[in-house]
Amino acid sequence: MRKNSLFIQKWRVFSHYDAIVKKKKKTYSKGQYYLNREGVNLEITEKLMLNLSLLLVLMFFFQVLQERQGRSVLRQYILPLYFVVSIFLCMIFSVEAGGGVRFDLRQVPIILGSLYTGRVFLFAGAAILMRGYMGVDDGFWTAMLYFTSLAFVLKWIHLWYVQLPSSQRIFASVLATFASSVVLLEIIFILHTPQRNMETILSYTLVPAVGAALITYFIEMIRQNILIRNRLARSEKMEAVSHMSAAISHEIRNPLTSVKGFLQLIQEDSYSEEKRKEFLQIAMSEIVRAEQVMNDYLTFSKAALDKEEELHVAEELSNVLKTFEYLAAEKGIKINASLGEDLMIKGDKSKFKQAVINLVKNALEAMPAGGVLTVRANKVQQSVQLLLHDTGIGMSEEQLSRLGEPYYSTKGNQGTGLGLMVTFSIIRAMKGKVQVNSRPCRGTTFRITFPSYKGE
Ligand code: ADP
Ligand code: MG
Repeated sequence: MRKNSLFIQKWRVFSHYDAIVKKKKKTYSKGQYYLNREGVNLEITEKLMLNLSLLLVLMFFFQVLQERQGRSVLRQYILPLYFVVSIFLCMIFSVEAGGGVRFDLRQVPIILGSLYTGRVFLFAGAAILMRGYMGVDDGFWTAMLYFTSLAFVLKWIHLWYVQLPSSQRIFASVLATFASSVVLLEIIFILHTPQRNMETILSYTLVPAVGAALITYFIEMIRQNILIRNRLARSEKMEAVSHMSAAISHEIRNPLTSVKGFLQLIQEDSYSEEKRKEFLQIAMSEIVRAEQVMNDYLTFSKAALDKEEELHVAEELSNVLKTFEYLAAEKGIKINASLGEDLMIKGDKSKFKQAVINLVKNALEAMPAGGVLTVRANKVQQSVQLLLHDTGIGMSEEQLSRLGEPYYSTKGNQGTGLGLMVTFSIIRAMKGKVQVNSRPCRGTTFRITFPSYKGE
């Protein structure tokens, strides 16, 4: 017995078709004959599935492309481009069914593209042009008539579609695709082939519908993601603002209040001259602290560079180190500097200085019992490397991981926890990179790399 009795059954059905065909004494072209043989019809399903997977792969590719565009103006063209490329791809990988009839999923990008973007004539036009390029035959005229009328219908549906909530869009696009498949199939059968075949009908109505469902689902999902991300960014911004106001109230208002208190005390006669001087001293130090916080904030908020100039690294570094000479000597700290010649980078001088000052200050503060601060600058290939190494108290892994976080300070009242945040943002704005190594009780090393600047 034959293994596959189903096969035999099917074959009988074909023979039956063939018999009918012969009886009617009609001659069919190769393609029409194809449409009536199930073995070949699987080829249609197969090609449609290939189309579907191409559409999905392309979707992911364009999603990545869109991510990379960021906020660029090109972004708005990506979705239309996706649909146009999809139409072309579908048509390249279509299955020729003879008599100018080609089966593929081109209607899915045409319909979805029109529904989403409203550029109905772009997509219909692209499909018609491509079809014309493949040959101006009967199939071309059918396609042209069908897609032109479809464009008008879609133009009208688009207005309604864009107002739908996300969940109903999937349903609507599946419905539109399904309806279009049925109509198109009917037209093909009427104009080109007399025989109706179950597998052709099924695959040509179901696969496009499934494709439409999947693609709409992905588009909606991506849109939701973008929405959520924007909302998140907004809430992050709000958080930053509330942090800022908390910091201002804490770091500025508190010192001001205490300054006010001390000034009132000074006004009173009951205190000795010496006491008053002491109050004055405290008030001064509070004001200095508030000023420092303000400075940090201002350099941070302007960290995006507004000035780009040639910057001699060695010169700026030695200037900074000079201002710390006295303080370091007082603390018993030796500064070892070895600064290479001709190290040029691009950036804002005063901000670069601020960044280095914060680092040097931290290093000196990390060595309360004296030590050595090594500062080195040299050229490594196309970049300028800075190294700051101190033999201070160092940091634990946990401390290291929080470095640069706003308000992160282990210095209590003495620190603002803004210094490194400012430094890092300046370095980032100058396209530099920072690497920090630290070991508790051994010391800390900051390695900073800037792209070298050769001048124009
Ligand atoms: P602040 O100096 O006001 O505390 P920073 O942002 O400058 O704020 O530094 C944050 C924290 O990072 C410091 O409190 C300190 O714990 C740690 N830190 C920074 N630089 C060093 C260093 N060179 N050695 C050890 N710890 C450091
Ligand atoms: Mg600091």
